[in-house]
Parts: sequence; C-alpha cells; structure tokens
Amino acid sequence: MRFNPQVDPVLKDLLHEEIERQQTTLSMIPSENCLSSAVIKLLGNVFNNKYAEGYPGNRYYQGCGVADKVESLAIERAKAAFGAEHANVQPHSGSGANMAAYFALLNDGDTIMAMDLKQGGHLTHGSKVNFSGKVYNVVHYSVDPKTEQIDYDQMLQLARETKPRMIVTGATAYPRTIHFDKWQAIADEVGAYHLADISHIAGLVAAGVHPSPVPYADVVTFTTHKTLAGPRGAVILCKAKYADAIDKAVFPGLQGGPLMHVIAAKAAVLGEVTTPAFRGYQQAIVENARALADELLRRGYRLISGGTDNHLILLDLRPLDLTGKVVAAALEEAGIVLNMNTIPFDPKGPKTTSGIRFGTPILTNRGMGPAEMVQIADMMDRVIKNYDNAAIKAQVRQEVKELCARYPIYTDLQI
Ligand SMILES: *Cc1c(COP(=O)(O)O)cnc(C)c1O
Repeated sequence: MRFNPQVDPVLKDLLHEEIERQQTTLSMIPSENCLSSAVIKLLGNVFNNKYAEGYPGNRYYQGCGVADKVESLAIERAKAAFGAEHANVQPHSGSGANMAAYFALLNDGDTIMAMDLKQGGHLTHGSKVNFSGKVYNVVHYSVDPKTEQIDYDQMLQLARETKPRMIVTGATAYPRTIHFDKWQAIADEVGAYHLADISHIAGLVAAGVHPSPVPYADVVTFTTHKTLAGPRGAVILCKAKYADAIDKAVFPGLQGGPLMHVIAAKAAVLGEVTTPAFRGYQQAIVENARALADELLRRGYRLISGGTDNHLILLDLRPLDLTGKVVAAALEEAGIVLNMNTIPFDPKGPKTTSGIRFGTPILTNRGMGPAEMVQIADMMDRVIKNYDNAAIKAQVRQEVKELCARYPIYTDLQI
C-alpha cells in the first residue's frame, strides 16, 4: 500500500500565515535572510530520500553516485568561493560545525580563548550553558570598554597570560571589521590554533567586502543561512593538513547521514557568490547598514562602537532608560522585527538587555536602498520614543505595510 501524506489544511494555513508575516513586516534580525523562491523550491528535492553516510567516493550505502556529484559540486564551489584548501559541506548547523572543529583539534579540558556571549560572542564560544563551556577551559575576551572594539594589544597580552590551545575569532553581535591577520599574529605568537567563525559575515567575506580569515586561520566555520543567503546549515573550511581530522569529526564523529537535499541548495548558492550580482548585494548590505546607522546617529541615538562597518548595528538604550525587551516588543507591534541584545558590559541580563540588534541583509535582498533606510530610521525613532503609544504604533504598522508592498517577496511561491 502506498503512503502518500499531503500537506494538511492546518499546515497550509500556517505556511500562508508565515509568508504573509514575512511579506508584510521589516525583518531586521541580522542573522536572517530571505532565500530566493528558486532555492526554496530546490530545497524541497528528492535527495531528501537518500542516505549518503560517508563522503563522495567513499559511502556506506549503495546508490550514491548522483549524491557524490552534488556533494563534490558543493565542495568545489565552497573552495572556489573562499579560496580554501578543503571544505566540508555536511554540517547541519553552525553550532555543529564549531563542535566538529573543536573535536577535530582539541582534547577535553584544553583552553580556548573566545569572545564572551555577553560581549557579542556565540553560545558555542564557551558559554557555561553550552557544551563548549562545559568541555573546555574557557578564557573569555571582551571589547575595550572605551572604544567598544577589539583591542589587539590587549588580546595579545591575554593570550600570553593564558596560553590557549585555540583562539576563536568571529562574533554574532560585533558591528566592526574583524582583523583576522592581527588575530593570526597573536595565535602564532602563543602557538594556538586559530578557528575563525564567520557565520554572520560569510557573505561579506565571500564578496570581498570584509577581510577574509581563510588565508590565515587553521579552520573557518560559517553558517550558510545568514548573509550568505542560502539554506539553513553550515560549512567548514580548513587547511589541507586538517582535512582528515575535520571530516572525521563531522562524520562519524558527530553526525549520521548528511542532508543531501540541503547540500544541493548549498551548492546552488555557493555557485552564485562569485557573480557580480552577489558582490553588489553584499556591498549594498553594508551601504544600507551605514545609511541606517548615520540616520540614527543624526537623531541622537547611541550606537555601540559609534557605528558599523558591516551588516549590523547594536543600539544602546540606556540613555533613554529603556530595555531591549520593551523596545523590541513595541517595534514588533509596529511591524519592525529585530532582537533584544546585550551590549558590552551590559548591566542587564540576556532576558531584558540594554540593547537592540538589527541589520540589513533582508531589507537589501528585497531591493531597498539608502532612502528606505532613512525612512525606516524615522519609523524606528517614532516607535522607540513612543513605545507605549498604541496610535503611533498602529500608524507605523500601516507605513511598514505600504513600504513592504513596494518590495514584495515570494509572490511566485505556491504552497
Ligand atoms: C549563528 C551563529 C552560530 C550558530 O549557528 P546555528 O546554525 O544557529 O547553530 C555559530 N557562530 C556564530 C558566530 C553565529 O553567528
């Protein structure tokens, strides 16, 4: 008997509800993007059905000939896009990619030096509530309290004092350029591995809009669903000498069968990143973030580090005596979706926070430019200053809908 489940009406309705939400709101969470309709359709492909444990040419299942071609294509494109010696395209997520990198190079109890979550690092950079903080001895670094940027002299001093086995660079909430060459000099000086986690900025790096760690770092991990604008998942790049250790750490170390349907979608997007259209998109992300930051500064807001070099902005709400929690909720009511976020040396915890974090990958992908950023800054300004005024939030909600209607997405997506 055939088993042939359909998408039931309950789920159909929920999918339509989510498409409507994405179409009619300004999505400004800087770790999100909107996949093209073409790649969304590609994601729903028959490779979902295929078990392909192992790697191209070396599988534990029969029938992997075509899967081999797809995975090899993704690997070659990842290497070409970033100029890497080796690529593993199987990690299901950025967290898993980092775990594999640690497992490949470290022993339990080794010391890692990484940015504190509260300062802009990621959970997998040694947070106490994450495996990384339980398995390894963690030395956390912060930004300089005055400049709110990384001070490389301080970092060298800390590395000399603590002698980490690995230095983890990269962040989830750092609005400035990361100088991977300076980090490499520090890692070399203390004899540490260098793991660069470029999850947030992978698209900028591939487009040459942000300096690349690939020539330096031993291992580079990144998610494919943030600025890179691909399917959810991750990639690990490394020097050839670590290829074997990295591959073994991913499979069989951590994962079972790869998500071959997602790897196909990764290949599609990685094939685009060397095109002028992709470069133009990444440049526009940064230009839009700068336009948004400039307009907020002009209106008197305090931005962490005084502005942005990349795709994201961290806004300090302390001068207004407001919390990230209250402001993020008020903005969502007005159709502006972003997240509360701790700021460096935040007196408040992660469930309240003194800041909000937002960025331009989706706005830019919809085709918006600097003029729209000025308009959005104005809408944000009105909501933040009138966070408890229902009429103003309703007025901005209407304006957001009108703006979104001018930059439609997913009009050709049938569910
Ligand atoms: C998003 C992110 C991750 C984790 O990615 P997931 O796919 O959510 O597990 C890891 N590191 C950094 C720096 C990130 O920004």
